[in-house]
Amino acid sequence: MVEKKIKLVRTDEKIYEVGILALQGDFELHTQALKRTGHESLLVKTPDELKRVKRLIIPGGESTTVNKLVDIYNLRRPLIEFGRKNPVWGTCAGLIMLARDSNDPRVQPFELIDIDAARNAYGRQVHSFSKKSKISLNGRSEEIELVFIRAPKITRVGDNVQVLAELDGEIVMAREKNILVSAFHPELSESTLIHEYFLTM
Ligand code: GLN
Repeated sequence: MVEKKIKLVRTDEKIYEVGILALQGDFELHTQALKRTGHESLLVKTPDELKRVKRLIIPGGESTTVNKLVDIYNLRRPLIEFGRKNPVWGTCAGLIMLARDSNDPRVQPFELIDIDAARNAYGRQVHSFSKKSKISLNGRSEEIELVFIRAPKITRVGDNVQVLAELDGEIVMAREKNILVSAFHPELSESTLIHEYFLTM
């Protein structure tokens, strides 16, 4: 006998402009930064929640942990497919997850942007630091406190990658089509310039 499966589709589920991957790390501060831009966001932990957002932020945290959790939560394939079509922004550990190569066999990145990342590349003695720098996006410039927390370095960018910001000779923000990456933590600064830029992608 063929068993008939009835699929219940809920039609009352709200679609959000932005989702924030909330498996681990710094997702709450992105929620607050987005609120300051006037956007409610959805914390995403399941493939179903991912279907309810138009764009996604992968926050900072620990990429080795995030790498394990995306498999435990069955999110690897859905995230890769989502990122082939929709805007995704990775900050810090999120940058590592979006890269082509992570220089660490414990992290298998999604290969959604043609860059290579080196984890914790700013050196042991300066795990964390911040520095003011002028960022210009969409014709708007702001002096922003760039906060680096055990940040990765971008060690290679492909020909189609647009460099959006550099600091002391290092590329710290880049974009390829619908994928944005930043090595620092914009959600820790007062400015919402970069969140607003992401919303225009
Ligand atoms: N060092 C972390 C990693 O390698 C990234 C740190 C962060 O996201 N602030 O994943």
